[in-house]
This record gives sequence, structure tokens and C-alpha cells, in this order.
Amino acid sequence: MNYRVENLRKKLEERELDAILISTPENRRYISGFTGSAGYLVVSRDDAILATDFRYTEQAANQSPDFQVVRAGGDWSWLLECLKEHNTGKMGFESQQMTVAAYRQISESLQDLPSTGRPTLMATSGVVEGLRTIKDQDELALLQKAIDTADAAMEAVTPTIQPGETERELAWRLEKAMRELGADSLSFDTIVAAGPNGAMPHHMPSDKVIQSGEPIVIDMGAKVGGYCSDLSRTVCAGEPDDTFRRIYDIVLGSQLTAIATVKTGMSAGDADDLARVVIAEAGYGDNFGHSLGHGVGLFIHEYPRVGPKSPNTLEEGMVFTVEPGIYLSGWGGVRIEDIVLLGKDGAKVLSKAGK
Ligand code: ZN
Repeated sequence: MNYRVENLRKKLEERELDAILISTPENRRYISGFTGSAGYLVVSRDDAILATDFRYTEQAANQSPDFQVVRAGGDWSWLLECLKEHNTGKMGFESQQMTVAAYRQISESLQDLPSTGRPTLMATSGVVEGLRTIKDQDELALLQKAIDTADAAMEAVTPTIQPGETERELAWRLEKAMRELGADSLSFDTIVAAGPNGAMPHHMPSDKVIQSGEPIVIDMGAKVGGYCSDLSRTVCAGEPDDTFRRIYDIVLGSQLTAIATVKTGMSAGDADDLARVVIAEAGYGDNFGHSLGHGVGLFIHEYPRVGPKSPNTLEEGMVFTVEPGIYLSGWGGVRIEDIVLLGKDGAKVLSKAGK
């Protein structure tokens, strides 16, 4: 049995659950290896079941040899069949993902079971997500591919930016480059924010024409093998002005300080502060309004949350972004973002795009 299933079983024991119903697609993929777009897992102390529909049963059997694959129709009868065979006392479900409608359907279906064999549904959150915070070698290899793809696209396209092209045109060129370099898809919609638009951290590319000398915030990511990358650079077509140089140096100093000093055992809130004090001391504390970073993996945003007051503790094997920024209304913004892997000796920067 694969060790991810074994690790999940340890979690079930800790939480005093007999089984868990997994409905989050990324968690399903992580635990079973099955990459199809539909399906559920039921993992108990002894069994591992993957339910999916007719389109995917063959693929599921190939990708998930450790799982018993059952064919699911449009209802929950497959679940009832499983539960009839295996007596399950407490069955967890993923409360942050399951819809109210699905929960009601399952609860109603369970009424068809004799009361002695009827499991109690227990709301859980973060069970598989907790396991996913520490990346294994297979995950790191895929993450690196996703990171390399975005790096290469950034490096190929940014030297060719011309004043006169629009944000949308530039975003498209970046997206095309990522796909041509091997991305399966994008981690999220590419952000290109030129001039004053850069003051909005998540501005969507518009028909605004890029002017010579203004800051251009680019934030993008490639998805490879299910894993997301996330990369921000702030560049300039033409000569940057003094404000650009001053703000850029502060943000870069803040980012490099955090990367150089973040350590295992630190709370993620303290890690956020490493970068935040540099920006605050330069007088721009109020202009850095978002978190320093976030875990990244199968989800673009996952644990650990690296922000003020985050209760997460940073551990060896975690992968997260370090992305401070300064945003000045009317002028624009600067954000610089890399992905790091936390090891015993500190953070290793996985992104290679020039800064
Ligand atoms: Zn990010």
C-alpha cells in the first residue's frame, strides 16, 4: 500500500475516525494517484476504495493499483454498497469542500442502511491538506518542472516587452510561452499590471497600453503534472524613474532578508514579519497590505499560510512563496515573488528567473 495512504490512516487514528470520504479532487489525486476529473475515495483502516464513473474506471485501475475501483453512477448507491460490506462507525468527510446538497443526499441515503451499520458523518477539515504541507521527492520534482517552465517563459518574454503593447497582449505572450515550454495549463489567470494599475495587487490585464518607464507587475504560474508554480517579477520597458529604483530596492531587500533568515520551527507569522519590518522601516508599512506568502503545490494557495498572525509552524519540507510588495496609489506597484523549499539549513530558492 502506498505510504500516502498509510500516512492518512495514521491521521484517521489520531482523529479517532474509522474512515474518511475524500471529495476534494486534489486530495483524491494526492492519495490515490488518480488524475481523472470525477471520483471519490473512501479510506478506512483496512480498505481503500476509489469510486468513479464509466469514463474513468479503466484509467483509475491503471493509476491507482492500491485501490479497489468501483463504478459510480449519479447517486450514492456505491457508497451504501461499500458501507454494507465494511462496518464503519465514524466516517469523516471534507467539510470545506463538500456541498450542503451532497451532504444532504448522503445523509438521506444512509437512512437506507440498518441503524446498526449506519456510520456517523463527522465534519473534518485539513486532514489530507495537513499531509500535503510536507512535500515528498515526487512532488518536488513536479513542482520544480512547473517553476522552471514559468521561469523560462518570464526570461524569454520580459526582454521583448515594448512600450505600446497592451497588458492583455503581454499576458497572452506570457501564457503562450508557458504552454509552449511545457505547461499543461496555468496555475491561475496571469496578472499584468502596468503603471497605476500595479497599485492593485490582483489587477486583471486590460487594454491599457504599456508606457515607457512605468513599473509592470507580472504574476503568473504554470501547472505541470498537477503542480502549480507562482512567480512575480516587476519590470520596466524603457528607463525606470527614481521612485521605481527606490521602491524596487526596498522590496528586493525585504524579500532577500526573509529568504536568508527564515528557519524551521519559526511560526509563519514571525516569518512574515522578517520581510514586513524591512518595508515598515523604509516607511512603507501601510503599502504592503497582503501576506508575505503561501504554501503552493496541487493548489496554488495551500498551507502554510505565511501572513501576520498565522498560527502555522514552518517545518522542513514545506514549500511556500516569498512575495513582499509595495503599492502606491496613482503610481503603481512592485512585487517580487519566488518559491522556496525550507530545509534544515534554511530556505532554498527554487525559482531561477532573474530579479
Ligand atoms: Zn503567490
